[in-house]
Amino acid sequence: MWIRDGVVFTVAPLEADGAPGADAAPSGAGGTPEASEPGAGRAEDAVPATSPRAPVSITVFTTRPDTLFGATFFILAPEHPLVEHLVAGTAKEAEAKRYVAKAMSTSAIARSSVEKEKTGVFTGRDAVNPVTGGQIPIYVADYVLMDYGTGAIMAVPGHDERDFAFASKFGLPIRRVITGPDGATGEMTEAYASKNEGVLINSGDFSGTPVDGAAKRVTEWLENAGKGKTAKNYRLRDWLISRQRYWGAPIPIIHCASCGAVPVPEADLTVRLPFLPAGAFEPRGDGRSPLANIPEFVNTTCPQCGDPARRETDTMGGFACSSWYFLRFASPQHEGFAFDPVEVKRWLPVDLYVGCLLYTSPSPRDRTRSRMPSSA
Ligand SMILES: [Zn+2]
Repeated sequence: MWIRDGVVFTVAPLEADGAPGADAAPSGAGGTPEASEPGAGRAEDAVPATSPRAPVSITVFTTRPDTLFGATFFILAPEHPLVEHLVAGTAKEAEAKRYVAKAMSTSAIARSSVEKEKTGVFTGRDAVNPVTGGQIPIYVADYVLMDYGTGAIMAVPGHDERDFAFASKFGLPIRRVITGPDGATGEMTEAYASKNEGVLINSGDFSGTPVDGAAKRVTEWLENAGKGKTAKNYRLRDWLISRQRYWGAPIPIIHCASCGAVPVPEADLTVRLPFLPAGAFEPRGDGRSPLANIPEFVNTTCPQCGDPARRETDTMGGFACSSWYFLRFASPQHEGFAFDPVEVKRWLPVDLYVGCLLYTSPSPRDRTRSRMPSSA
């Protein structure tokens, strides 16, 4: 799990033929009914719709409010409930629906990979950038995932690698709003994502603000203007810890034909690896852990019904053990348990963690930071 600080705010997509402000958003559409941008006009390049619709608004979460002046387009995740509404009855409807269906069958990992070639569909609609008041086109693109924030992003190609790749492919404007580390202000050949070095430019009243601290100032401004508020974004994901190898902590599960997967009773923990001499723990090419070939390890009895049963032979990835050791640091002398909750409460979270960068960041994109993660 990771937690990110950021800001949520609302943008108002423009309907090609809707009367802005006329009606509330359709219920259950995922938008907030209030806050359609006053004075929002028609989108010049929008695809004409066949029937009038009410304007809607979309809530966005970002960790980089300091770059919002550089947002040149807007992206919805294919699963976003508003996609269907925005394209319904337009010339883009069939294309968008095909795209959404295809995205649904692609894994989240493949979709969000930096390397993957960017794909997307223009919805034919524009949105209003709440900080500039300008109109930006709304796309559907599969690199935006529904479980990140609100499933909608303000794309800032000048300062985000994937947005840069998307803008380059679709010929969208790339606007620099932070100077490079060398003070560069010119055209960009790649995204510049540093949060520490540089000064805001092309950012209205915020131009000249050092990027370090600018996010806070823009957030305050959004809050004061009633356009956004500080928010934390929590994300929990399943984590596959199984490995088909000898080394690693055994997964304390027993498989019983009658009872299913049964946890090893606490009294029987720890399940220890059997000693294997050199030559006995290499993979055998059968896709199973070498432990699967050790009958003395595999064969056991079910803790629930007492019938013969089999031990789980996969082992845990190394990170399964290293993901909690910082808790142990709070009570290293205790032998009866992994860590003392009272001590953990007293000592953690730490303010500053100095150690291998691998353990200090919730994501590879943030590895320049040296703070303790909220969780590994
Ligand atoms: Zn059983």
